[in-house]
Amino acid sequence: MPADPFTLADSRVRVHQVLDAKDNLIWVLEDPQSGTAAAVDGPSASNVQAFVEAHDLRLTTIFNTHTHPDHIGINRGYERRGQLSSMTVIGAASRADDIPGLTRAVKEGDEVGFGDATFEIIETPGHIDGHICFAGHGVVFCGDTMFAGGCGYLFDGPASAMKHSLSKLAALPAPTRVCCAHEYTQDNLRFAWLVEPDSEALAARIRDVWKIRAEGGCTVPSNIGLERATNPFLRWHAPTLRRRVCERMGLLDDATEEEVFAATRALKDRKDHREITDEMLPLCGPSLA
Ligand SMILES: [Zn+2]
Repeated sequence: MPADPFTLADSRVRVHQVLDAKDNLIWVLEDPQSGTAAAVDGPSASNVQAFVEAHDLRLTTIFNTHTHPDHIGINRGYERRGQLSSMTVIGAASRADDIPGLTRAVKEGDEVGFGDATFEIIETPGHIDGHICFAGHGVVFCGDTMFAGGCGYLFDGPASAMKHSLSKLAALPAPTRVCCAHEYTQDNLRFAWLVEPDSEALAARIRDVWKIRAEGGCTVPSNIGLERATNPFLRWHAPTLRRRVCERMGLLDDATEEEVFAATRALKDRKDHREITDEMLPLCGPSLA
């Protein structure tokens, strides 16, 4: 069940969530004045096309955060339908050759528009070279850089680049909606509890997320304030997280924040946290709501 739609730019643009594949979240922006729509990423064109047809819209624009197949699959899908060449396709200039149908190559600080909304490009390498995010109107479309309670794998890395990228997103205003590209929140928070089990904010978030998932809902978008408080990949300064990551990964107490971040990512990759059962989580007690 997708999350409820929300609006931006004085309600002149509506943002819908469309589910696709196993856990992909596609964001579809609707401009009601023109009856057009834009999609942010997608593993295929099929669910987005079904959505726009059901809402009597026409997809004119694709925003690509990065070049993994489950993000540019939508470009290839519309290419097969013969429709890509008439669309605006916005993606990273540094990966221009890898983005099917690219018409607008962008870099840090550029602005792109859809309807009455304008988004600024934030370059966020780390998950993959050439990853970008689109930020504006209290929303950030952040692909696989930041997830609700987590971050993407370091395929291209290095960890220092990813830490810097996440720091840029964490500096956005606290209410900014975090519109990431996957629903991985339960696994992410299971790991968060491994490294910060004394956090009340995290305990409350775990209760909220488990309840939403039990009811078949989606836990995305979250917001930057909640991520700063509970996302282990933004909490290299937190004493408990530092201590627990250093212990498990064999780091000394004087490890730098960058070393703690890299070790946090490496620890999650080990998947020790999958041994934490629901019975070991703080599922009783007050929620955030
Ligand atoms: Zn990816």
